[in-house]
Amino acid sequence: MKRNGFCIWLTGLSGAGKTTISKKLIERFKEERFIEAMDGDEIRKGLSRDLGFSKKDRNEHNRRVIFCTKLLVRNGVIVNVALISPYRETRAFAKTEIPNMMEVFVKAPLDVCIERDPKGLYEKALAGEIKQFTGIDDPYEEPLEPDLIVETHKETVDESVDKIIAKAKELGYL
Ligand code: ADP
Repeated sequence: MKRNGFCIWLTGLSGAGKTTISKKLIERFKEERFIEAMDGDEIRKGLSRDLGFSKKDRNEHNRRVIFCTKLLVRNGVIVNVALISPYRETRAFAKTEIPNMMEVFVKAPLDVCIERDPKGLYEKALAGEIKQFTGIDDPYEEPLEPDLIVETHKETVDESVDKIIAKAKELGYL
């Protein structure tokens, strides 16, 4: 049976909770739908392994994800994008390219992300061992009009996931 695909685009700082939320979303849907994750860290190990963190490279990384997501969504797959995607312009481009895309701002204050530091990257960035780290010495442009904001310092992962699913229904994607 043909189903409508859609894209849940999670944007936010490193450590805000994108990967964690994405994994939970996949668990919720995997029995009933084709669903695929586009996780920035994973894609950087493969498709984008030649790219760094300059604005040009970040945009190219995002462009590749947008291209793949578009192909999957138009074939009925739910695609969960978990990308810092720091630039408003790139996210706006994604919206023009990907059918049925909802932009979700995964929001947590920088000090909470630094405290969590799930991959130990903030420690390295603050010590100057990693350059161009979003939130430290590279910009993050907060969404001005996202479809949804989830505040991971105030909500549980399940609450954030419930809000995302409710919004997808409200938008007519589910
Ligand atoms: P990102 O993918 O945005 O870099 P991760 O999902 O890898 O972030 O890391 C987020 C960290 O925050 C994890 O260690 C996760 O367990 C923790 N965390 C605490 N509360 C939440 C929440 N409500 N939603 C998502 N993650 C949370």
